[in-house]
Amino acid sequence: MDLFDSNSTEHANLPRNMIENSMFEEEPDVVDLAKDSTAFPAFPSLDPDEVSYEPRSSRLLVRGLGENDMDEDEEDCESSARLLGMSFMNRSSAHRSNSSPYTRQPPPRSCSRPSARTMVVCVLFLVIVASMTMVLYFLPGCTFTKAGCRKPNNTAPAEQISPISTNGELFPWTQLRLPRSIRPLSYELTLTPDFDSMTFTGITVINMSVFHNTKIIVLHGANLNITKATFKLDGDPIRDVTVLEYKPKQQIAVKFTEELKAGQRCVLTLSYSANLSHTYDGFYNSSYTDKDGNKQVLAATQFEPLSARKAFPCFDEPAFKATFLIKINRKQNYMTLSNMPKAESTPLSNGLVQDEFEKSSVNMSTYLVAFIVANFTPISRNVSETMVSVYAVPEKKEHANYALETASKLLKFYNNFFDINYPLKKLDLVAIPDFLAGAMENWGLITFRETTLLVRKESSLLEKQVVASVIAHELAHQWFGNLVTMSWWNDLWLNEGFATYMQYMSLQIELPELDIGNLFLAVRFRAMDKDALNSSHAVSTEVNTPEQVEEMFDSVSYEKGASILLMLNASLPGNQQFRKGIINYLNQFNGSNTVTDDLWNSLTQVDVSPHQQNILEMMSSWTSQKGFPLVTVSRKGDQVTLTQEHFLLTSDNTTYTSSLWNIPVTYVNDSCSLAPECRQLFTLKTKSGTLKLPESVKWLKLNYRNTGFYIVHYGEEGWAALIDALSTNVSVLTHEDRASLIHNIFALSRLGRVSFHQVLNLLNYMHSETETTPVKEALLQLNNIYRLLDKRQESGLVARMRAYILGQFGSLMENQTWSEEESVSKQELRSTLLETACGLNEENCTQKARSLFKQYVNGTLRIPGDLQQVVFTVASQSDKDWTNLLNMYKYAIYDSEKRKILQGLASTQDTRRIVWLLKAALNGDIINTQELPLVISTVCKGFAGYLFAWDFIQVNWDRLIEKFRMGSFAIQTIIKSATSQFSTQAHFEQVQAFFSSLKERGSQMRSVQEALETIRLNQLWMDKNLPTLRKWL
Ligand SMILES: [Zn+2]
Repeated sequence: MDLFDSNSTEHANLPRNMIENSMFEEEPDVVDLAKDSTAFPAFPSLDPDEVSYEPRSSRLLVRGLGENDMDEDEEDCESSARLLGMSFMNRSSAHRSNSSPYTRQPPPRSCSRPSARTMVVCVLFLVIVASMTMVLYFLPGCTFTKAGCRKPNNTAPAEQISPISTNGELFPWTQLRLPRSIRPLSYELTLTPDFDSMTFTGITVINMSVFHNTKIIVLHGANLNITKATFKLDGDPIRDVTVLEYKPKQQIAVKFTEELKAGQRCVLTLSYSANLSHTYDGFYNSSYTDKDGNKQVLAATQFEPLSARKAFPCFDEPAFKATFLIKINRKQNYMTLSNMPKAESTPLSNGLVQDEFEKSSVNMSTYLVAFIVANFTPISRNVSETMVSVYAVPEKKEHANYALETASKLLKFYNNFFDINYPLKKLDLVAIPDFLAGAMENWGLITFRETTLLVRKESSLLEKQVVASVIAHELAHQWFGNLVTMSWWNDLWLNEGFATYMQYMSLQIELPELDIGNLFLAVRFRAMDKDALNSSHAVSTEVNTPEQVEEMFDSVSYEKGASILLMLNASLPGNQQFRKGIINYLNQFNGSNTVTDDLWNSLTQVDVSPHQQNILEMMSSWTSQKGFPLVTVSRKGDQVTLTQEHFLLTSDNTTYTSSLWNIPVTYVNDSCSLAPECRQLFTLKTKSGTLKLPESVKWLKLNYRNTGFYIVHYGEEGWAALIDALSTNVSVLTHEDRASLIHNIFALSRLGRVSFHQVLNLLNYMHSETETTPVKEALLQLNNIYRLLDKRQESGLVARMRAYILGQFGSLMENQTWSEEESVSKQELRSTLLETACGLNEENCTQKARSLFKQYVNGTLRIPGDLQQVVFTVASQSDKDWTNLLNMYKYAIYDSEKRKILQGLASTQDTRRIVWLLKAALNGDIINTQELPLVISTVCKGFAGYLFAWDFIQVNWDRLIEKFRMGSFAIQTIIKSATSQFSTQAHFEQVQAFFSSLKERGSQMRSVQEALETIRLNQLWMDKNLPTLRKWL
């Protein structure tokens, strides 16, 4: 599965503080607004009943409590306002009444200076609220310890309480994982969807083999109304059986009085009915409006990880592989698709047509089964005996060409690279109008979002890069995941880390013009940022609840998994050992399931050199423990000592881990630093190690081109030597090495090992930097700090940070063009620079963007794809153009452009519009609900809406977890977007209180721990560095 992280594919992570003078002069309270929908007639009115933004108790904690960053007068005013139940919204928007951070004034007083009595009441009130909050929600002691908080089901014990079936009988199984005594061999599914009632009926016939004597058959089924069940054992006659259901674990069971004996075969036939799902998993319904304005209904599936059981009863674990024969009964005006090619179509007496697909020629895990009932149009091509087709809704057929061409090229590449041909006769790639993930690798029937499959001929290479990456990822899964599958979700990285690595590797070779290396480098940095937290997890980690399964779909499984494979491949001698090991692995485990050690053993078995490493020994240190090492360099004469420790960001000084890694440390020095031949290798397995260098060496750079998953601290002298070298000539290091220095020094500042003054020292060389990766990394880091300052209303520092960024990058910004640009790398560079410039309200930039938008609306100009985001974002700050954009959004057909318009809309600083957008995205009429995480993450970057978004999430929590599933990547994105902007004690407490109150509805999620840690770290960083910023910025 591709997660389609809206942040990682986005090309800049920027502040959106562009505010028009006039917009916030008189900001009505949002509650009043909801009642007075006529005040804002430009778009559908707000329904007062549905806007539940009345002040809540938690609202009282929004600002001020425990903060020491406000002056006394301001705090008095805050407290009084709180006592009066006033919305904080008034104040936050009032703060934004100046167009430029340079001239931002203190907030207008919305209340007069309180009397002494009021102040006493305020103080008393605050003390009571603070004490209650602390008592009720005091941070569990485990939050920042080495082990983190244990989840309640961590050891998956057999339940003490006997589970009771829906019919009142005792359910015969107590565990999450199914018993191993029965194995499915083949399934025959017949499905009949009904789009009038949005239901479907099904008949599932399961052929099974008994492995151990048993009196029960236990399998999965969720929300299926089983109407008839029969059972047949080898030579016995067919008989009716009773099916027991245990809803909390989504399991069903049949009990027998006699034992089924090992070696016997049996058949269970279940007839059932169910609703088509209205979320994005199971067998779900979707719709779109065609070019004539008619609503077209369709149904598609998304089963990974745990939703096949919502469409048919099955043994829904990846290790239970079986063959599938699928039949779908449809109306005549629909077409159907499934994993295998269609075998025949037969008219039925009820007027429907039955499409029968060939029996799968391979054993598949249930999560890879897929079927679609829709009206799509294909384009096809034969590639090495496989018919490759790309399907889309009819009017977007011509947007499918690039995908067909790319998929064909990559299929040939993988057939050759893995030395095993893709095993099916056909491969369909289908763009589904409603789809939450980026794509899903169902065997032979890969499903995509429209954005990740369809591009126009004139689309920019940057848009094509998104499509090519997702196709490359999903195609790699046809081998890694489909052919060889992880035994259980704890090793999800075997699927996802591998597919992610192959996606970058294959594109670097097959489509070098896409410059995919820059993106891979950036995602490795982001994976480190997450893995540096105590809440992170080992790549291969225990998984015992459905939420934990969902949570495995994160950047540790994907990007860290890919990063450690890159590190391994880069440290192996010769360029064939890795590939040979992979081919070994695929051949050895073809059709079966594996654990992580199987991969390392296969790679170790490839004997290519006498000094070969034990790969199992080396890589276990990277997959079995969380986090990664910090390597510290200290030099005395010709002796260089390297010391490793866990790079652990923690607010708790007593947390200490003794983790050690087997690190393939690479390094270059001033005598030879650019070519691959310059690179030297030193294996650091112990706490410290020493290498020798000629004394004449002026500087050392470790982690050549950042192919290793570790951070390096060079000590004061080491950094000074590197900074000195770069200020003389930036080209002494590769651009990846420069970006890695920038990433590392910001990380070290967060860890407290270097002062922010040292960070600024390194950034001084940036005047002469023109390469994409270092500029992007520096701007991303600076923008993150800018946003935190902005949200703490440190107006003086915000202005100085703005001046600093414009000072450092101003000339590079001015040098950017606004016309078509061919190179992907240059597109990335200029979109990052211009989005920052316009985000900082730099006059030249915003003027140019406005003028482009004007010509675009007139139809006299096409905006280059990489600049659309910045232009739409600037446009959305004006009243009239926001409405224009909304109309454009409604009528836009091309999904990638639609998403950019939506990000533009969501970066408005008009709070009424923000509320409307959040609500519209949740309702799903005008804005698809699949885009809600994108709306929330965009809103949260800006000042005006981030508190609204947080409130919105709290109020609508139950709907969110129903729509997106607890622990899912969408929920992770939502939590992270909303909370990573907080840096105060009050927000920490509020976030903690909210999630604690959820109990089993989310309090145990890893992303909650991550959110709390992040806020705490933001707070600590601010406390520590504000004085430095005041002094040096
Ligand atoms: Zn994937």
